[in-house]
Amino acid sequence: MPALHMRGVVLPEGETRDLWIVNGRIRLTPVPYADTIVDGGYLLPGLVDAHCHIGLAAEDLDEAEQQALTDRDAGTLLVRDCGAPLDTRPLQEKLELPRIIRAGRHIARPKRYIRHVSDELDDPEQLPAAVAEQAAAGDGWVKLVGDWIDRDRGDLAPLWPDDVLTEAVKVAHEAGARVTAHVFGEEALPGLIRAGIDCIEHGTGLTADTIDLMVAHGTALVPTLINIETFPGLAAGASKYPLYAGHMLDLYGRVRRTVGAALEAGVPVYAGTDAGGGIAHGRLVDEIVALHELGMSRADALGAASWTARGWLGYRGIEEGAAADVIAYESDPLADLNALRSPSRIVLRGRVIR
Ligand SMILES: [Zn+2]
Repeated sequence: MPALHMRGVVLPEGETRDLWIVNGRIRLTPVPYADTIVDGGYLLPGLVDAHCHIGLAAEDLDEAEQQALTDRDAGTLLVRDCGAPLDTRPLQEKLELPRIIRAGRHIARPKRYIRHVSDELDDPEQLPAAVAEQAAAGDGWVKLVGDWIDRDRGDLAPLWPDDVLTEAVKVAHEAGARVTAHVFGEEALPGLIRAGIDCIEHGTGLTADTIDLMVAHGTALVPTLINIETFPGLAAGASKYPLYAGHMLDLYGRVRRTVGAALEAGVPVYAGTDAGGGIAHGRLVDEIVALHELGMSRADALGAASWTARGWLGYRGIEEGAAADVIAYESDPLADLNALRSPSRIVLRGRVIR
């Protein structure tokens, strides 16, 4: 395969640069006889969907592959998969698909998550062992369900006792894995954050106290704003549980203030769509726009879905020797984030995808 050459304004630095691509890696020094595939416009490190479920709303691997292609064509070249019942490891062999960092299966308890999706533990004391199992099966992340509706209580409630969480997070960290949890309400948050969890998904129940705890522990937040838009529908479908329905509407009503306060306090926030969990694949740009509308600068919102998120997940941006996952745009995404909706070139693992 001949070397490739791209020239454009490299983000986030904003300087016009040349880069070459050889054997799937970026080179910043000239390579002879390279094919120029981009000359002008803007170059961005591949986008990251930090909360996506490839293989969740899928019958089989073929359907999961289609989900991954839909995300890729919208610019997502790296996915932190936040739990899927399908073993999607075969998709990682396919070079034309986005890179997938898998979390294995969600860990929950019976009747305390979407049915037939998670590893359901009869006894919460089994959590550390289940975490060890998923840490071994995944790519460095483990996904817990932190809270869900408890039908006896008729409201959101935590799934795990605090001491079990502390042990479970310790087990994951000893295995070299990070842990994240689905959390909608307030009550599950202190135990999870104090246990040293690495990230909170959704986080609609954050308060001033738990935001301070996240800052103190360095916990990240992936708010999945476009998924929070489904809360009124969830509430409307839960007429048997008025307490829960009212709670969901309250969380929805204050999500802008909640996430705004987390940003203000300095909690690291990343872009995740929750595609597959009630959200269509391929909507990452909508989430980036939503983060900007909520108060992040365009550069910060874009970084939360590109260079900053890549660093958090162990991938580099446009640098010497980094993996050649680069997207080109004709107009400047930092002037108008909607420019992200029409990539002119997508290069993944050093190959031209589009
Ligand atoms: Zn999710």
